[in-house]
Amino acid sequence: VVSKRIARLVDYIPSGAYLADIGSDHAYLPCYAAMKGHIVGAIAGEINEGPYRSAQETVKQYKLEKVIEVRRGNGLNVITSDDQVDAVVIAGMGGELIRTILEEGKHKLNPRMTLILQPNVGEKRLREWLEQEQWWITDEEILEEEGHIYEVLIAKRHAFTPARLSLEDLWFGPYLRQHSSAIFKKKWQAELQKRRRVLASLANAQNADEVKEKRKALEKEIALIEEVIT
Ligand code: SAM
Repeated sequence: VVSKRIARLVDYIPSGAYLADIGSDHAYLPCYAAMKGHIVGAIAGEINEGPYRSAQETVKQYKLEKVIEVRRGNGLNVITSDDQVDAVVIAGMGGELIRTILEEGKHKLNPRMTLILQPNVGEKRLREWLEQEQWWITDEEILEEEGHIYEVLIAKRHAFTPARLSLEDLWFGPYLRQHSSAIFKKKWQAELQKRRRVLASLANAQNADEVKEKRKALEKEIALIEEVIT
């Protein structure tokens, strides 16, 4: 049994794909995808010794050694052009780290691939990178599990140039803000409260220029969030 989050991520992998799961930890995601018959094979990439071993153990436990190869390395370095990877999953880390992994390994990406990204925080930074590098967001999802809210971003390389993302798109997601689900509203209500609390705490701070700047930035963000969720 895997988490709802992992099951949803697997749904976004094109069926019959050869997958690279970067930062695979226990390799639950590629193992689940392989057992479902959803993928033809996978690379589970891990930078750290502990998770790398855990990944090997899970693969062995489910007798998937012929289907899933566990490789140790930083980010997309574990992929070579011979691998013919169709889909890349990078999930369960901050958007900034996902961005760094994509940026450092962008020569490993090719237009055939689908990127399935699940940042825990820092979605805006990731969307900015995708737009800058012409990876277009083709779908998004927001889901809640055990008190955590997760965003999933799907990106592809298109031959055409879609409309540029607005500031609201970058912050809230071009698809997520259109649908404005209950979970989406819940997430941004919480983000709004967080900012209001910080702003209130700054009211008593000395009016140094730095504080003024911070307050201005917070007020702007609060106005933006209020506009989107009300
Ligand atoms: N992807 C899994 C998931 O969504 O459940 C595991 C997420 S886990 C919190 C993040 C994993 O990414 C850790 O096992 C960590 O060792 C690995 N990691 C962090 N930076 C990495 C990098 N640059 N390259 C490969 N793996 C990395």
